[in-house]
Amino acid sequence: GMPAAPATVLAPRRKSRKIKVGRVDVGGDAPVSVQSMTTTPTTDINATLQQIAELTAAGCDIVRVACPSQDDADALPIIAKKSQIPVIADIHFQPRYVFAAIDAGCAAVRVNPGNIRKFDDQVGAIARAAKDAGVSLRIGVNAGSLDKRLLEKYGKATPEALVESAVWEASLFEEHDFHDFKISVKHHDPVIMVRAYELLAERGDWPLHLGVTEAGPTFQGTIKSATAFGALLSRGIGDTIRVSLSAPPVEEVKVGIQILQSLNLRERKLEIVSCPSCGRAQVDVYTLAERVSAGLEGLPVPLRVAVMGCVVNGPGEAREADLGVASGNGKGQIFVKGEVIKTVPEALIVETLIEEALRLAEDMPHN
Ligand code: SF4
Repeated sequence: GMPAAPATVLAPRRKSRKIKVGRVDVGGDAPVSVQSMTTTPTTDINATLQQIAELTAAGCDIVRVACPSQDDADALPIIAKKSQIPVIADIHFQPRYVFAAIDAGCAAVRVNPGNIRKFDDQVGAIARAAKDAGVSLRIGVNAGSLDKRLLEKYGKATPEALVESAVWEASLFEEHDFHDFKISVKHHDPVIMVRAYELLAERGDWPLHLGVTEAGPTFQGTIKSATAFGALLSRGIGDTIRVSLSAPPVEEVKVGIQILQSLNLRERKLEIVSCPSCGRAQVDVYTLAERVSAGLEGLPVPLRVAVMGCVVNGPGEAREADLGVASGNGKGQIFVKGEVIKTVPEALIVETLIEEALRLAEDMPHN
């Protein structure tokens, strides 16, 4: 069929340079990628690979694993080799694990200069090793581990302090003619975080990795991340994202993908257009929406399904969607592609919608 017209986005992407994280491009015109981090001990290779497989299935583009000890470093070669998505080793404190991760075949290494003593002395050697291996880096500045010198200068982790730290560390790599890195300046407060990335975006063309660090449990963390990423991505700032949740990492990926889909930065898949219900509702909209949503979870096609409580906006929205129901009088009018195909009793609305959705999905291109 005809290729779909490109979806409207809120702003053109900021012009960043493109780097490679294994086979995933980050920055430039590359799609904004979604990252997460494993929670298994990295030394438990099977559990880690199992979790990476789950993340991959959920749509994660890049995965990070912690590397706090030599035993973890020793696990990296197999993990890097068997993972289906690029693996980034996350290194604090110990520069020697940076070299181990590069030797292990990791696609990239995250370094946190604030946590590496005498980091500046190591930059040349790290840059050389990374360049020789075609490995990229992330300079990951964190409010919680800001350089002592900057903490003293600014009193706390202000946006200016985070940016000064990042720009300084970037300049050290650039002095060694190393440019294959992205930068993050994370803070748990979305306002400080957004301001920091705004400032950073003006200082250079580095690709930016967005994150609200320690964002909290799922509900709060989702909202903090969506708000902060939305503020930045809607102005074109951000090349790769990681949602941090105190929840299983698959949840982070789902939230990340949904944020990108909401901004048309990634093709929308299943989308439920359901009304909030009100005093006019003639069916239990919450239950209907939940059951339809659960019944169609993971459907790999861009299908919009409208679940509407009454006839005020019901037929209009149902007609606009690929599939929908407008309810009234204990019955549901089922719409497919704008046409009423049948009217069913309330008890059959969910199964009818699911049946029709699966039928429509069969005729759509999967990817
Ligand atoms: Fe209320 Fe009907 Fe609108 Fe749902 S579709 S919010 S029930 S008016």
